[in-house]
Amino acid sequence: MIISGKELSARLKAEMAERVATFPEKYGRVPHLVVVLVGDDPASVSYVTGKAKASEVVGIRNTTIRKPDTITEEELLGLIRQLNEDDTVDGILVQLPLPKHISEAKVIETIAREKDVDGFHPLNVAALWQKQPCVLPCTPKGIIRMLKTAGVQISGKRAVVIGRSNIVGLPVAKLLLDENATVTIAHSRTEDLPSLTRQAEILVVAIGRPKFVTADMVSEGTAVIDVGVNRDPETGKLCGDVDFASIEPKASVITPVPGGVGPMTICCLMENTIECFLAKVAPKA
Ligand code: NAP
Repeated sequence: MIISGKELSARLKAEMAERVATFPEKYGRVPHLVVVLVGDDPASVSYVTGKAKASEVVGIRNTTIRKPDTITEEELLGLIRQLNEDDTVDGILVQLPLPKHISEAKVIETIAREKDVDGFHPLNVAALWQKQPCVLPCTPKGIIRMLKTAGVQISGKRAVVIGRSNIVGLPVAKLLLDENATVTIAHSRTEDLPSLTRQAEILVVAIGRPKFVTADMVSEGTAVIDVGVNRDPETGKLCGDVDFASIEPKASVITPVPGGVGPMTICCLMENTIECFLAKVAPKA
């Protein structure tokens, strides 16, 4: 079974739109997401456009602020501080990656925690690892939602996550652990990766290498989540980290690229923006 992130996110966005439509009467306005884009990297422009389109569908106010890649770190941090102070702004997202002269860590920690819709702020990350209330990072949140919607039992299962980045691998592993899976995190130094992945009942791949995971690395009946977004060197088309064509017949469920984890990430961003808005305007709601 192919888990379509496109279809699931369309359904969830329609449900959110119905909810958001009631907000002006209840709270006097709709949630407001501000996305800051530095430079004109085509992939970043496309991600930011996707976020603006999703906001439109859900009925969230979206402001995209574009800055040239010559902006200084201090100017960008100043802009973020202004947005932190602005009461009409509920969520702030600075599109990554940033030019080399700007510290991503400084940018992330300057965004007010309560407006951190990406869930990247150190206090949000700490809260996640301490099982405290927090904004969950969008991609890991979307992955758990997809597994649950597809009816995959997580509790008690052997999960293998390939990749240990702060934005995907580590938080996915934590969320799977919180769902009572037994989790192994693999990375570039892992020895004999295929023998490890063959033991996985749930396999999440977040590496960033086209078709890296081949059919011999996956056992029959595994639930496969492909987070990677790459260009196929042969066709130039978008592809994942998993060789979809050869693994799909073996997997119990599998996510496609494009149309899998990507749309769910944006969907969860919408959800996080609504959560940040409600925490402000209706703290007990
Ligand atoms: P990243 O920060 O570059 O991390 C890549 C991870 O893969 C690292 O932990 C690295 O191990 C591991 N790795 C690299 N080569 C490996 C190998 N040969 N064997 C085993 N592990 C290996 O990347 P990321 O930000 O997590 O993103 C991963 C992919 O997901 C990218 O394609 C990105 O575009 C995509 N992505 C998609 C979404 C979405 O919404 N669909 C969101 C975020 C990211 P070490 O730690 O040892 O270096």
